[in-house]
Amino acid sequence: MDFSNLTIASTRAAIAEKRITATELAETVFKKIKSEDSAIHAWLTLSEERALAQAQRIDDLVAKGDPLPPLAGVPIGIKDVMLTKGIRTTAGSKILDGFLPPYDCTAVERLEAAGAVILGKTNCDEFAMGSSNENSAYGPVHNPRDTTRVPGGSSGGSAAAVAAGMAVATLGSDTGGSIRQPASFCGVVGLMPTYGRVSRYGLIAFASSLDHIGPLTKTVRDAAALLGIIAGRDPMDSTSAGVPVPDYEQEINRRIQGLKIGVPKEYFGDGLDAEVRAAVEAAIDQLQTQGAEIVPISLPHTPYAVPTYYVIATAEASANLARYDGVRYGYRSPQARTLAEMYRRTRDEGFGPEVKRRIMLGTYALSAGYYDAYYLKAQKVRTLLARDFEAAFQRVNAIVTPTTPTAAFKLGEKTDDPLAMYLADIYTVTGDLVGVPGISVPCGKTRAGLPIGLQVLGRHFDEGTVLQVAHAVESSLSRA
Ligand code: GLN
Repeated sequence: MDFSNLTIASTRAAIAEKRITATELAETVFKKIKSEDSAIHAWLTLSEERALAQAQRIDDLVAKGDPLPPLAGVPIGIKDVMLTKGIRTTAGSKILDGFLPPYDCTAVERLEAAGAVILGKTNCDEFAMGSSNENSAYGPVHNPRDTTRVPGGSSGGSAAAVAAGMAVATLGSDTGGSIRQPASFCGVVGLMPTYGRVSRYGLIAFASSLDHIGPLTKTVRDAAALLGIIAGRDPMDSTSAGVPVPDYEQEINRRIQGLKIGVPKEYFGDGLDAEVRAAVEAAIDQLQTQGAEIVPISLPHTPYAVPTYYVIATAEASANLARYDGVRYGYRSPQARTLAEMYRRTRDEGFGPEVKRRIMLGTYALSAGYYDAYYLKAQKVRTLLARDFEAAFQRVNAIVTPTTPTAAFKLGEKTDDPLAMYLADIYTVTGDLVGVPGISVPCGKTRAGLPIGLQVLGRHFDEGTVLQVAHAVESSLSRA
């Protein structure tokens, strides 16, 4: 059996029809990871014991002829910012090295309850801060499509694991683009649900008003299937919404005839690579051929999105990361002689340079003299960005844009220039700031064979339309 092409549906079928057992499948995947991941480094920790115990439970159900849960035996990886009970969880940071969480993240718990086999934890930028996975304290991830290039970030390990066929699907997190941007760079599907759609309970906080958990998969249908399982109200997260969860796998089959799709001119300006533009424009033409109405729109506050994001995200991060003091979790500096010195040394030795830069920026933006000038101002601009989207969604059902201005760049290419790195998220940060759902779906390749992603954004809680449009792009690409 070729594991690399397995989807959720084909895994489920192979196990139900007894062509493979869940245990054989899990063992095959672990073997593949062990022989191939040295070149990619998508994984930080494997949870073999837990995975094989779950696989055995599924095989017992098959043996008894009992009904199988929707993800029976599907091997899934989890970005290392989500807590897994008793399994090392680092957030890509030295400060959490050796941390064994006392409970599971709700999304992980729901996957496992649906029969998924949790393979382990995927590599990521430290505390999900980054766009290339080069900020991981455990070393970078290489893009499986070209190992001299980055996989994107911060969910680089999650995207690379799916692209390399080392997992059928993974979970990632998106605060400014960290699911969609690596999905685009690695040629997989990455879905950021509406803010509040998926519980954040057990997600290590970066910027609480921007953090989202979502799936990375090989197909849009798989993204729909996973969202249906992890979505929905969770009493453990007061920001999780009690909005009914539809059957997303049904929704993607609707025809896009008559849908109004907005194309914002601000997302096609300077800095957009010519090959990316051509592929996205060709995909938009295909949507029109399939009967969608293409509507030129404007989101006028777009130029302010990246600076607004970097004020709000760093402010929230500076507060969230105050808890790492060497007392409660993970790493503690061994050398300190006083309490204050222990705090200082632990944070100095435990955090990497990008995390320190963000804590300093965020602390500055929140400090008494500057709060009004930076943090409050950024919150006001966030409202203006939200109004841009409200106005656009009066006229259109969905918005399409490129996911990123360029295809995957080389390792090391932007590490000395944080501002250039921050611009990799120019098309994705607004979705997080406004809280609307967004997906990246492959829509073509550069001449060098690098994947190109198209982004679809939708109305709050309307992931159905986002998935439906992405599915239309995916099917026209596979017909081409
Ligand atoms: N690249 C962005 C950042 O570094 C987004 C990260 C994310 O979405 N987690 O903040």
